[in-house]
Amino acid sequence: MKQSVKLVAGNWKMNGLGASLGEAEALAKALQEQAAACRVALCPPATLIDRMARVLADTPVELGGQDCHAEASGAFTGSVSAAMVADAGADLVILGHSERRAGFGETDADVAAKVEAALAAGLEPIICIGETLAEREAGQAIAVVSRQVAGSLPPSLSGKAFAVAYEPVWAIGTGLTPTLEQIEEVHAAVRAAMVAKLGEGGRVAPILYGGSVKPSNAAEILAVADVGGALVGGASLKAEDFLGIIRAV
Ligand code: PGA
Repeated sequence: MKQSVKLVAGNWKMNGLGASLGEAEALAKALQEQAAACRVALCPPATLIDRMARVLADTPVELGGQDCHAEASGAFTGSVSAAMVADAGADLVILGHSERRAGFGETDADVAAKVEAALAAGLEPIICIGETLAEREAGQAIAVVSRQVAGSLPPSLSGKAFAVAYEPVWAIGTGLTPTLEQIEEVHAAVRAAMVAKLGEGGRVAPILYGGSVKPSNAAEILAVADVGGALVGGASLKAEDFLGIIRAV
């Protein structure tokens, strides 16, 4: 299988005012001194993308949003469109994160519509999937992620730049991670579902692992077959932790 360059993306969630802009500066400085062996992206809240774009100008660090609306414009109070995320300075956008699926009722069909909007705006979507603890304990993990891939990836993704992020819901922010064997098993199933959905177009896009990735476990997780990078929450807020993960690639 052709391996694309790994992508390590930081998901700041609803954090980042104040001190964290300094963390972005520290990250930028460290990466100017020592180039990363992978693509590096930070996904701050929408209102910080513009400021971060200035902090990270002239660095290889890419920027992403954390969500976008499926419609291009209109009466959607409180929402931002994909074109607005791109206009603020983002290259990527996280879509279908489990916190959006659980807290905002986003379905696979909603996520697929947002992916279409992101592609139309020239953004590279990072499409999140993952089973809950109850689903894993019921032996449903593979079935759940396969269904999420089938429903959340529109056919128009074929040939476009995108990533899928496997994030077991029970591993997010908990310090728990699946075994390396479990990660390998799910990534193989996700790849099969991507190829079933997109044909050859499903073979190249990286499948990131996310959920309690930190400097101490990054190297072994990133070495698992078909782990094409990491989506990092808590450990992306401190430049030193995030750099530790980037250096593990
Ligand atoms: P975590 O979050 O690294 O804090 O577990 C990952 C995510 O939600 O993307």
